[in-house]
Amino acid sequence: MSQPGIPASGGVPTSLQAQNGAASASGSPYTNGPVQNALMSSQVSVSQGYNSQLSGSYPHPIPAKTLNPVSEQPNYGDSQTVSPLSNYQGPGRTINRPPVASNPVTGSLHSGPVPRMPLPTSQNPAATPMPSGSFLRGANIPPPLNWQYNYPSTGSQTNRCPRASSQPTLSGNTNSTSHQYVSSGDPSLQNNFIKSGITSNTNNGSMVVHNSYDEIEGGGFLATPQLTNKNPTMSRSVGYSYPSLPPGYQNTAPPSTAGMPPSSLNYPSGPQAFTQAPFGASHLTASMSGLSLHPEGLRVVNLLQERNMLPSTPLQPPVPNLHEDIQKLNCNPELFRCTLTSIPQTQALLNKAKLPLGLLLHPFKDLVQLPVVTSSTIVRCRSCRTYINPFVSFLDQRRWKCNLCYRVNDVPEEFMYNPLTRVYGEPHRRPEVQNATIEFMAPSEYMLRPPQPPVYLFVFDVSHNAVETGYLNSVCQSLLDNLDLLPGNTRTKIGFITFDSTIHFYSLQEGLSQPQMLIVSDIEDVFIPMPENLLVNLNESKELVQDLLKTLPQMFTKTLETQSALGPALQAAFKLMSPTGGRMTVFQTQLPTLGVGALKPREEPNQRSSAKEIHLTPSTDFYKKLALDCSGQQVAVDLFLLSGQYSDLASLGCISRYSAGSVYYYPSYHHQHNPVQVQKLQKELQRYLTRKIGFEAVMRIRCTKGLSIHTFHGNFFVRSTDLLSLPNVNPDAGYAVQMSVEESLTDTQLVSFQSALLYTSSKGERRIRVHTLCLPVVSTLNEVFLGADVQAISGLLANMAVDRSVTASLSDARDALVNAVIDSLSAYRSSVLSNQQPGLMVPFSLRLFPLFVLALLKQKSFQTGTNARLDERIFAMCQVKNQPLVYLMLTTHPSLYRVDNLSDEGALNINDRTIPQPPLLQLSVEKLSRDGAFLMDAGSVLMLWVGKNCGQNFLSQVLGVQNYALIPQTMTDLPELDTPESARTIAFISWLRDQRPFFPILYVIRDESPMKANFLQNMVEDRTESALSYYEFLLHIQQQVNK
Ligand SMILES: [Zn+2]
Repeated sequence: MSQPGIPASGGVPTSLQAQNGAASASGSPYTNGPVQNALMSSQVSVSQGYNSQLSGSYPHPIPAKTLNPVSEQPNYGDSQTVSPLSNYQGPGRTINRPPVASNPVTGSLHSGPVPRMPLPTSQNPAATPMPSGSFLRGANIPPPLNWQYNYPSTGSQTNRCPRASSQPTLSGNTNSTSHQYVSSGDPSLQNNFIKSGITSNTNNGSMVVHNSYDEIEGGGFLATPQLTNKNPTMSRSVGYSYPSLPPGYQNTAPPSTAGMPPSSLNYPSGPQAFTQAPFGASHLTASMSGLSLHPEGLRVVNLLQERNMLPSTPLQPPVPNLHEDIQKLNCNPELFRCTLTSIPQTQALLNKAKLPLGLLLHPFKDLVQLPVVTSSTIVRCRSCRTYINPFVSFLDQRRWKCNLCYRVNDVPEEFMYNPLTRVYGEPHRRPEVQNATIEFMAPSEYMLRPPQPPVYLFVFDVSHNAVETGYLNSVCQSLLDNLDLLPGNTRTKIGFITFDSTIHFYSLQEGLSQPQMLIVSDIEDVFIPMPENLLVNLNESKELVQDLLKTLPQMFTKTLETQSALGPALQAAFKLMSPTGGRMTVFQTQLPTLGVGALKPREEPNQRSSAKEIHLTPSTDFYKKLALDCSGQQVAVDLFLLSGQYSDLASLGCISRYSAGSVYYYPSYHHQHNPVQVQKLQKELQRYLTRKIGFEAVMRIRCTKGLSIHTFHGNFFVRSTDLLSLPNVNPDAGYAVQMSVEESLTDTQLVSFQSALLYTSSKGERRIRVHTLCLPVVSTLNEVFLGADVQAISGLLANMAVDRSVTASLSDARDALVNAVIDSLSAYRSSVLSNQQPGLMVPFSLRLFPLFVLALLKQKSFQTGTNARLDERIFAMCQVKNQPLVYLMLTTHPSLYRVDNLSDEGALNINDRTIPQPPLLQLSVEKLSRDGAFLMDAGSVLMLWVGKNCGQNFLSQVLGVQNYALIPQTMTDLPELDTPESARTIAFISWLRDQRPFFPILYVIRDESPMKANFLQNMVEDRTESALSYYEFLLHIQQQVNK
């Protein structure tokens, strides 16, 4: 415990950076693949290779049935097993050697060259990207790749009331003009209040062809070196060219009508003009002024005396100490949160506080209301490319000052027109300046290529082990049920691959009477047979797809093949998808055993409980490398691992982590023995298949000059220094970043953070979702502590601890977590508290810090002394990295309620439904009683533990059973009974579920149920064999703090 903890600031240990730095170093250069051409042309050679081949087959351990080649496919002849599914009978099948172009000898496996697929475009010299970080691109424009941008000459418009815009056209892309109007997505989710009607004139004649998203999103298309230079000195000098403007916001001139054009232009007058008025210095005077609104927040708490600091209602994020006019415009903390809502002025001050500075983001969260702007002009800072936002200042009607780099920019002519009010001359009233969260329809400058179609490829493990679990039935049925709900449009493509020791493709070409199976047994050098028929248009081939999904679960029921060639199957899937990009969904049920990426068991059960020497790092870099290739081709891989045995998720998980995919894990999945997992998979698949998806995305986070982002957490690949490559983005993914204060912020009172997510919607539109968060800067340690956001801090520490576990060790990470509490509370004690009282004194804002860190130590990721399987631990770590904060906190410190005595007292009333609000309970068995029923909300799971002596009333009126013994062993639903008790309980549970986009399953747990252990494991305040109780932990912290 005496080791240094996770550094709260500054001097980031290399271990925290290595993870992404290493990825950057070894990553393939970013390119975008050619669309189709290369594939089409090379296919000829593949086909030619087949023409003269004789078939070869080899004896197979499985009783074989020889299948006749299909006559409609003469090109493939005997060289490949092409089997109509109706002919495919059970386990028997002939696995023919794939054709060998230059070596027609048959019968021997894996020998000789096989027709190759075209090189991935990352090896295409024409696609070599510009080095990232170069800001001088204007001088050296690379040639266009596979398509060309033709910009019509669009001179600056001077119309005061401009109309239709003239869009740049994009040859070969018929959709290029369709982004004039908001037309896609779920209209109910969007607040489409802006129509086009604004003239485009900001291209300024720029003809730069973008060759990477870095340039599109970050580098300016204004491409003038000194304007796009991110060198802070340069930016500052630009700012200084307006000597009359002192630095910072506080000196922003109040709106002035001096120099405005004549009133005939319909200018608004009076107080409604310029929302920036409150940005004056007066709003942020003494630090205490805002805090006086929350007197409780100023309290110093002695945790040893006040043992229960858990609020009775869910903890709300702290409100930044900003003037209400600014705060009301601020970003919703569910989307964008900072660990410190008061930013320390200097790194020295941050170091003193010993608290981590970072952001937690949920950028693609499903939103009920999202303003969508369709305008040909997206107004951004000419210097740092920040999107105009509510926290910029208007110096006058024609100039706005960037809140990130302080550059003064011109207000474009068309921005003077407000499409909402149809009034000219109100730039500050535009929705871009009124909404901290907004989405832009991106014009073609934001495209590297025509927006990709939605492409979904499913890769199924069909080995004996997989068939045993019975998962195919569930998954295929779920797919059948949701086929029409897959996000997409008429361009949606779909395909399927199955694999065991060989790889099976399915031709779904329109016009076939049934799907055809193509088996490739050469897993050493995988090739794609007839690629054009394997990923097919869903609309055109829907019946074939449905046919296949109905047939698949039966096809392999008698297989005896136990081997798993996952690596080669992934390579095949990657090749199939690389021309377009898209989403690859992989189901795996065991350790891969064949071909590239084969893994060996390395979990040793007797090491499970030890904090040392466990295998948290990948055993091969195959999955990471393939993931980086996938990322370069805009392919994300989602892994569904359903396995009873160790499957080395530490290695397999890399395929999702670096390709911006997700990992799902169902330990011991079995269709009969583990109904709970079956249900969980069904529910999660339903969400997975139907949730919103963004393709070929990149995200950049910018912050006010002086602050610097240095470490990123989440599933992605860091493309250039700060551009996250997200081949797919989904609404359930969270991200975190760490920051430091590089330059003193003494000249400013506010700082801002802006995330910009550029993506292609499933309808084929390019969109940019922008969130901007504004926070005050403070100069004293006390203020830093008062503004601490304990949930965000705990979430960021959890992310850092995962990295530390992997790069150092689990015990190191655990020590670092504990030290984070000790160091910050010591700093508070020694530097803020004037009189040294006994006890464990903490600022009110951090009253739950020790509890949350203790909960983290007991979380699956970091716990010791348990029998947690290695894969389960790794999965928990994946979740820490990839979950939005709100769910991370619920998995770490679940909410516990007593529900057998729900009343309407204090209930919410929503849509005429009364929703009881039972108080939150501490997570301790002390709070349980055998005569009650307790609901635990752990985010993705709800557990209802019913005590042995639970009142008859609850049993009969809520559970619908006459006595305790009659509660079913597996009960995952409450009956809807015609009783007030039932109505209240169901209303409360539905309300909890409505708070999240997925459907947490409810498990009713009896005393002797195996799930009870899970329930009790979450009692984080209690002592266990290997972990301290909350009180013991507090005593330990106190000892260390008072040293
Ligand atoms: Zn700027």
